[in-house]
Amino acid sequence: MSFSSLVSDIAYRERDDASRISRAKSYTSTAATSVSISGDISSQLHGGYSHPLARSWQAERQLTKSMLIYPLFISDQPDEEVVIPSLPNQSRRGLNKLVSFLTPLVAKGLRSVILFGVPIAPGVKDALGTAADDPKGPVISAIKLLRREFPQLYIVTDVCLCEYTSHGHCGILNQDGSLNNTLSVDRISDVAMAYADAGAHCVAPSDMNDGRIRAIKLKLIESGISHQVLLMSYAAKFSGCLYGPFRDAAGSCPSFGDRRCYQLPPGGRGLARRAIHRDIGEGADVIMVKPASQYLDIISDAKEIGRDLPIAAYQVSGEFAMIHAGAKAGVFDLKTMAFESTEGILRAGASIVVSYFTPDFLDWLGN
Ligand SMILES: [Zn+2]
Repeated sequence: MSFSSLVSDIAYRERDDASRISRAKSYTSTAATSVSISGDISSQLHGGYSHPLARSWQAERQLTKSMLIYPLFISDQPDEEVVIPSLPNQSRRGLNKLVSFLTPLVAKGLRSVILFGVPIAPGVKDALGTAADDPKGPVISAIKLLRREFPQLYIVTDVCLCEYTSHGHCGILNQDGSLNNTLSVDRISDVAMAYADAGAHCVAPSDMNDGRIRAIKLKLIESGISHQVLLMSYAAKFSGCLYGPFRDAAGSCPSFGDRRCYQLPPGGRGLARRAIHRDIGEGADVIMVKPASQYLDIISDAKEIGRDLPIAAYQVSGEFAMIHAGAKAGVFDLKTMAFESTEGILRAGASIVVSYFTPDFLDWLGN
Protein backbone atom coordinates (compact mmCIF):
# COMPACT_ATOMS: atom_id res chain seq x y z
CA MET A 1 0.00 0.00 0.00
CA SER A 2 1.38 3.41 -0.98
CA PHE A 3 1.68 6.24 1.55
CA SER A 4 -1.14 8.24 -0.07
CA SER A 5 -3.52 5.30 -0.02
CA LEU A 6 -2.56 4.58 3.63
CA VAL A 7 -3.49 8.18 4.51
CA SER A 8 -6.82 7.86 2.71
CA ASP A 9 -7.42 4.53 4.45
CA ILE A 10 -6.87 6.15 7.87
CA ALA A 11 -9.09 9.08 6.88
CA TYR A 12 -11.75 6.62 5.80
CA ARG A 13 -11.55 4.79 9.16
CA GLU A 14 -11.80 8.04 11.13
CA ARG A 15 -15.02 8.88 9.28
CA ASP A 16 -16.34 5.40 9.87
CA ASP A 17 -17.30 5.52 13.56
CA ALA A 18 -20.76 4.04 13.14
CA SER A 19 -20.24 0.99 15.29
CA ARG A 20 -17.67 -1.13 17.12
CA ILE A 21 -18.21 -3.89 14.65
CA SER A 22 -17.42 -1.84 11.61
CA ARG A 23 -14.35 -0.41 13.40
CA ALA A 24 -13.16 -3.89 14.24
CA LYS A 25 -13.57 -4.88 10.65
CA SER A 26 -11.59 -1.87 9.60
CA TYR A 27 -8.69 -2.84 11.92
CA THR A 28 -8.75 -6.34 10.59
CA SER A 29 -8.56 -5.20 7.05
CA THR A 30 -5.87 -2.62 7.91
CA ALA A 31 -3.71 -5.24 9.59
CA ALA A 32 -4.01 -7.46 6.62
CA THR A 33 -3.40 -4.84 4.00
CA SER A 34 -1.47 -1.82 5.25
CA VAL A 35 0.89 -2.63 8.15
CA SER A 36 4.20 -2.90 6.42
CA ILE A 37 6.37 -3.76 9.46
CA SER A 38 7.24 -7.42 9.36
CA GLY A 39 6.80 -9.60 12.40
CA ASP A 40 3.96 -9.98 14.85
CA ILE A 41 2.50 -7.55 17.39
CA SER A 42 4.98 -8.48 20.12
CA SER A 43 7.74 -6.90 18.04
CA GLN A 44 6.24 -3.46 18.70
CA LEU A 45 7.85 -2.16 21.92
CA HIS A 46 8.38 1.59 21.53
CA GLY A 47 4.92 2.59 22.71
CA GLY A 48 5.72 1.06 26.08
CA TYR A 49 8.50 3.54 26.82
CA SER A 50 7.95 6.61 24.68
CA HIS A 51 7.05 8.77 27.69
CA PRO A 52 9.55 9.49 30.52
CA LEU A 53 7.13 8.17 33.14
CA ALA A 54 6.54 5.01 31.12
CA ARG A 55 10.33 4.59 30.88
CA SER A 56 10.60 4.76 34.66
CA TRP A 57 7.91 2.06 34.92
CA GLN A 58 10.22 -0.35 33.09
CA ALA A 59 12.56 -0.60 36.08
CA GLU A 60 11.70 -3.10 38.79
CA ARG A 61 13.53 -0.88 41.27
CA GLN A 62 14.13 2.84 40.90
CA LEU A 63 16.90 4.57 42.79
CA THR A 64 15.65 6.43 45.85
CA LYS A 65 17.56 8.24 48.57
CA SER A 66 16.60 5.62 51.14
CA MET A 67 18.49 2.94 49.17
CA LEU A 68 21.82 4.71 49.67
CA ILE A 69 24.42 4.17 52.38
CA TYR A 70 27.28 6.67 52.44
CA PRO A 71 30.75 5.48 53.60
CA LEU A 72 32.50 7.71 56.13
CA PHE A 73 36.15 7.44 57.14
CA ILE A 74 36.47 8.50 60.77
CA SER A 75 39.94 9.50 61.90
CA ASP A 76 41.10 9.27 65.50
CA GLN A 77 42.47 12.82 65.10
CA PRO A 78 39.43 14.90 66.14
CA ASP A 79 40.22 17.98 64.07
CA GLU A 80 41.51 16.22 60.98
CA GLU A 81 39.89 16.80 57.60
CA VAL A 82 42.08 15.37 54.85
CA VAL A 83 41.19 14.97 51.20
CA ILE A 84 41.86 11.47 49.84
CA PRO A 85 43.59 12.07 46.50
CA SER A 86 42.70 8.72 44.94
CA LEU A 87 39.02 8.97 45.97
CA PRO A 88 37.59 12.08 44.26
CA ASN A 89 35.67 14.53 46.48
CA GLN A 90 36.03 12.27 49.54
CA SER A 91 37.79 13.12 52.80
CA ARG A 92 38.80 11.48 56.03
CA ARG A 93 37.40 13.36 59.01
CA GLY A 94 37.80 13.52 62.75
CA LEU A 95 34.89 13.70 65.17
CA ASN A 96 34.92 17.48 65.36
CA LYS A 97 34.35 17.76 61.60
CA LEU A 98 31.54 15.25 61.28
CA VAL A 99 28.46 17.19 62.32
CA SER A 100 29.13 20.23 60.16
CA PHE A 101 29.84 17.95 57.20
CA LEU A 102 26.73 15.82 57.63
CA THR A 103 24.21 18.53 58.55
CA PRO A 104 23.55 19.69 54.96
CA LEU A 105 23.52 16.10 53.69
CA VAL A 106 20.94 15.03 56.26
CA ALA A 107 18.88 18.08 55.31
CA LYS A 108 18.97 16.88 51.69
CA GLY A 109 17.70 13.44 52.64
CA LEU A 110 20.73 11.36 53.69
CA ARG A 111 19.30 8.33 55.51
CA SER A 112 22.26 6.10 56.28
CA VAL A 113 26.03 6.05 56.71
CA ILE A 114 28.55 3.25 57.17
CA LEU A 115 31.47 4.01 59.47
CA PHE A 116 35.08 2.97 58.94
CA GLY A 117 37.53 3.83 61.71
CA VAL A 118 40.97 5.12 60.77
CA PRO A 119 43.46 5.03 63.65
CA ILE A 120 46.38 7.30 62.88
CA ALA A 121 47.96 7.88 66.31
CA PRO A 122 51.42 6.26 66.42
CA GLY A 123 51.62 2.87 68.13
CA VAL A 124 47.85 2.36 68.20
CA LYS A 125 47.88 -0.73 65.99
CA ASP A 126 48.75 -4.16 67.40
CA ALA A 127 48.47 -7.83 66.47
CA LEU A 128 44.98 -8.15 67.98
CA GLY A 129 43.46 -4.95 66.60
CA THR A 130 42.80 -3.78 70.16
CA ALA A 131 41.82 -0.28 69.02
CA ALA A 132 38.83 -1.58 67.04
CA ASP A 133 36.56 -1.55 70.08
CA ASP A 134 38.31 1.11 72.14
CA PRO A 135 35.42 2.90 73.88
CA LYS A 136 37.17 6.19 73.12
CA GLY A 137 38.12 5.14 69.57
CA PRO A 138 36.78 6.80 66.44
CA VAL A 139 33.94 4.39 65.60
CA ILE A 140 32.32 4.06 69.03
CA SER A 141 32.68 7.82 69.60
CA ALA A 142 31.14 8.52 66.19
CA ILE A 143 28.21 6.16 66.78
CA LYS A 144 27.32 8.02 69.98
CA LEU A 145 27.81 11.44 68.42
CA LEU A 146 25.73 10.68 65.34
CA ARG A 147 22.92 9.01 67.28
CA ARG A 148 22.71 12.14 69.43
CA GLU A 149 23.02 14.74 66.67
CA PHE A 150 21.05 12.99 63.93
CA PRO A 151 18.40 10.80 65.57
CA GLN A 152 16.89 9.85 62.18
CA LEU A 153 20.18 8.75 60.64
CA TYR A 154 20.65 4.98 60.34
CA ILE A 155 24.12 4.00 61.53
CA VAL A 156 25.85 1.03 59.92
CA THR A 157 29.29 0.01 61.19
CA ASP A 158 31.77 -1.94 59.16
CA VAL A 159 33.25 -4.58 61.45
CA CYS A 160 36.79 -5.69 60.74
CA LEU A 161 40.25 -5.66 62.26
CA CYS A 162 42.38 -4.71 59.26
CA GLU A 163 42.34 -0.97 59.99
CA TYR A 164 43.56 -1.72 63.53
CA THR A 165 46.03 -4.58 63.20
CA SER A 166 49.76 -3.95 62.90
CA HIS A 167 49.90 -6.52 60.06
CA GLY A 168 46.85 -5.12 58.26
CA HIS A 169 45.01 -8.44 57.95
CA CYS A 170 41.33 -8.97 58.79
CA GLY A 171 41.80 -11.16 61.84
CA ILE A 172 44.25 -12.66 64.29
CA LEU A 173 47.15 -14.55 62.75
CA ASN A 174 48.82 -17.89 63.38
CA GLN A 175 52.62 -18.11 63.64
CA ASP A 176 52.82 -18.88 59.92
CA GLY A 177 50.94 -15.71 59.00
CA SER A 178 47.68 -17.47 58.14
CA LEU A 179 44.40 -16.44 59.78
CA ASN A 180 43.45 -18.15 63.01
CA ASN A 181 39.77 -18.52 62.30
CA THR A 182 38.62 -19.37 65.83
CA LEU A 183 40.42 -16.48 67.52
CA SER A 184 39.44 -14.10 64.72
CA VAL A 185 35.74 -14.95 64.91
CA ASP A 186 35.79 -14.53 68.67
CA ARG A 187 37.45 -11.13 68.38
CA ILE A 188 35.34 -9.89 65.44
CA SER A 189 32.12 -10.83 67.22
CA ASP A 190 33.26 -8.95 70.33
CA VAL A 191 33.93 -5.86 68.21
CA ALA A 192 30.49 -6.15 66.59
CA MET A 193 28.91 -6.35 70.05
CA ALA A 194 30.78 -3.25 71.19
CA TYR A 195 29.42 -1.30 68.22
CA ALA A 196 25.89 -2.62 68.78
CA ASP A 197 26.08 -1.75 72.47
CA ALA A 198 27.22 1.76 71.57
CA GLY A 199 24.07 2.23 69.50
CA ALA A 200 24.81 1.08 65.94
CA HIS A 201 21.61 0.11 64.13
CA CYS A 202 23.50 -2.34 61.95
CA VAL A 203 26.75 -4.27 62.23
CA ALA A 204 28.35 -5.36 58.98
CA PRO A 205 31.30 -7.77 59.31
CA SER A 206 33.58 -7.52 56.28
CA ASP A 207 36.36 -9.79 57.51
CA MET A 208 35.31 -12.99 55.69
CA ASN A 209 36.29 -15.34 58.53
CA ASP A 210 34.21 -18.53 58.43
CA GLY A 211 31.38 -18.64 60.94
CA ARG A 212 31.43 -15.04 62.11
CA ILE A 213 27.77 -14.38 61.23
CA ARG A 214 26.65 -17.19 63.52
CA ALA A 215 28.96 -16.01 66.29
CA ILE A 216 27.70 -12.43 66.12
CA LYS A 217 24.06 -13.50 65.93
CA LEU A 218 24.47 -15.73 68.99
CA LYS A 219 26.10 -12.94 70.99
CA LEU A 220 23.35 -10.50 69.96
CA ILE A 221 20.75 -13.03 71.11
CA GLU A 222 22.56 -13.78 74.36
CA SER A 223 22.82 -10.12 75.22
CA GLY A 224 19.16 -9.50 74.47
CA ILE A 225 19.61 -6.95 71.67
CA SER A 226 19.20 -9.14 68.58
CA HIS A 227 15.71 -7.70 68.02
CA GLN A 228 17.08 -4.21 67.40
CA VAL A 229 20.35 -4.76 65.55
CA LEU A 230 20.49 -5.65 61.87
CA LEU A 231 23.24 -8.05 60.85
CA MET A 232 24.50 -7.32 57.34
CA SER A 233 26.97 -9.85 56.00
CA TYR A 234 29.62 -9.03 53.45
CA ALA A 235 28.90 -12.58 52.27
CA ALA A 236 30.36 -12.31 48.78
CA LYS A 237 33.39 -10.07 49.04
CA PHE A 238 35.86 -10.65 46.23
CA SER A 239 39.60 -10.02 46.31
CA GLY A 240 40.99 -7.88 43.53
CA CYS A 241 42.41 -4.56 42.51
CA LEU A 242 39.39 -2.31 43.09
CA TYR A 243 40.10 -1.48 46.75
CA GLY A 244 43.19 0.70 46.25
CA PRO A 245 41.67 4.12 46.99
CA PHE A 246 39.86 2.71 50.05
CA ARG A 247 43.13 1.43 51.45
CA ASP A 248 44.64 4.88 50.92
CA ALA A 249 41.73 6.34 52.88
CA ALA A 250 41.61 3.78 55.68
CA GLY A 251 45.31 2.92 55.89
CA SER A 252 44.43 -0.77 55.82
CA CYS A 253 46.85 -2.25 53.31
CA PRO A 254 48.30 -5.60 54.49
CA SER A 255 51.97 -5.24 55.49
CA PHE A 256 52.72 -8.63 53.89
CA GLY A 257 50.87 -11.03 51.62
CA ASP A 258 47.32 -10.33 50.44
CA ARG A 259 43.77 -11.34 51.31
CA ARG A 260 43.25 -14.05 48.72
CA CYS A 261 43.01 -16.81 51.31
CA TYR A 262 39.85 -15.32 52.80
CA GLN A 263 38.34 -12.97 50.21
CA LEU A 264 36.76 -14.77 47.28
CA PRO A 265 38.61 -15.37 43.98
CA PRO A 266 37.07 -13.26 41.18
CA GLY A 267 36.00 -16.35 39.22
CA GLY A 268 34.42 -18.04 42.23
CA ARG A 269 30.73 -17.82 41.48
CA GLY A 270 29.94 -21.17 43.10
CA LEU A 271 31.96 -20.24 46.17
CA ALA A 272 30.00 -16.98 46.44
CA ARG A 273 26.72 -18.89 46.22
CA ARG A 274 27.87 -21.22 49.01
CA ALA A 275 28.92 -18.25 51.17
CA ILE A 276 25.54 -16.58 50.59
CA HIS A 277 23.66 -19.78 51.50
CA ARG A 278 25.84 -20.19 54.59
CA ASP A 279 25.44 -16.64 55.87
CA ILE A 280 21.66 -16.69 55.40
CA GLY A 281 21.64 -19.93 57.36
CA GLU A 282 23.77 -18.36 60.09
CA GLY A 283 21.33 -15.52 60.62
CA ALA A 284 22.27 -12.64 58.29
CA ASP A 285 19.46 -10.13 57.81
CA VAL A 286 21.00 -8.59 54.68
CA ILE A 287 23.48 -10.07 52.21
CA MET A 288 26.08 -7.80 50.64
CA VAL A 289 28.02 -8.28 47.42
CA LYS A 290 31.29 -6.37 46.96
CA PRO A 291 32.49 -5.01 44.51
CA ALA A 292 29.30 -4.34 42.54
CA SER A 293 29.55 -3.63 38.82
CA GLN A 294 32.09 -6.36 38.08
CA TYR A 295 29.92 -8.86 39.99
CA LEU A 296 26.38 -8.23 38.75
CA ASP A 297 25.85 -11.97 38.24
CA ILE A 298 26.66 -12.51 41.91
CA ILE A 299 24.15 -9.83 42.93
CA SER A 300 21.60 -11.62 40.77
CA ASP A 301 22.53 -14.94 42.40
CA ALA A 302 22.22 -13.36 45.86
CA LYS A 303 18.73 -12.14 45.01
CA GLU A 304 17.76 -15.57 43.73
CA ILE A 305 19.21 -17.43 46.74
CA GLY A 306 18.06 -14.80 49.23
CA ARG A 307 14.79 -13.82 47.62
CA ASP A 308 13.31 -13.06 51.05
CA LEU A 309 16.18 -10.78 52.11
CA PRO A 310 17.26 -7.32 50.98
CA ILE A 311 20.46 -7.49 48.94
CA ALA A 312 23.10 -4.79 49.33
CA ALA A 313 25.90 -4.00 46.90
CA TYR A 314 29.01 -1.95 47.59
CA GLN A 315 30.16 0.15 44.64
CA VAL A 316 33.73 0.20 45.87
CA SER A 317 36.38 2.90 45.76
CA GLY A 318 38.00 1.61 42.56
CA GLU A 319 34.68 1.56 40.70
CA PHE A 320 33.93 5.10 41.86
CA ALA A 321 37.42 6.36 40.96
CA MET A 322 37.18 4.71 37.52
CA ILE A 323 33.91 6.48 36.76
CA HIS A 324 35.46 9.80 37.77
CA ALA A 325 38.55 9.08 35.65
CA GLY A 326 36.41 8.13 32.65
CA ALA A 327 34.37 11.30 32.96
CA LYS A 328 37.50 13.42 33.34
CA ALA A 329 38.93 11.84 30.19
CA GLY A 330 35.77 12.75 28.30
CA VAL A 331 34.63 9.15 27.84
CA PHE A 332 31.20 9.84 29.30
CA ASP A 333 29.25 12.28 31.44
CA LEU A 334 29.80 11.72 35.17
CA LYS A 335 26.18 12.01 36.27
CA THR A 336 24.89 9.83 33.44
CA MET A 337 27.39 7.07 34.27
CA ALA A 338 26.76 7.36 38.01
CA PHE A 339 23.09 6.68 37.34
CA GLU A 340 23.73 4.01 34.72
CA SER A 341 26.13 2.05 36.92
CA THR A 342 23.79 2.28 39.91
CA GLU A 343 20.74 1.30 37.88
CA GLY A 344 22.69 -1.75 36.68
CA ILE A 345 23.32 -2.71 40.30
CA LEU A 346 19.62 -2.32 41.15
CA ARG A 347 18.56 -4.21 38.02
CA ALA A 348 20.79 -7.13 39.05
CA GLY A 349 18.84 -7.44 42.30
CA ALA A 350 20.18 -5.04 44.93
CA SER A 351 17.89 -2.70 46.81
CA ILE A 352 20.63 -1.15 48.98
CA VAL A 353 23.70 0.51 47.47
CA VAL A 354 26.77 1.61 49.41
CA SER A 355 27.99 4.48 47.27
CA TYR A 356 30.49 7.32 47.32
CA PHE A 357 28.11 9.07 44.92
CA THR A 358 25.56 9.45 47.73
CA PRO A 359 26.06 13.23 48.22
CA ASP A 360 25.74 13.72 44.45
CA PHE A 361 22.62 11.57 44.28
CA LEU A 362 21.03 13.60 47.09
CA ASP A 363 21.38 16.62 44.78
CA TRP A 364 20.51 14.81 41.57
CA LEU A 365 17.43 13.12 43.00
CA GLY A 366 16.26 16.47 44.35
CA ASN A 367 13.07 16.64 46.34
ZN1 LIG B 1 39.30 -6.17 56.77
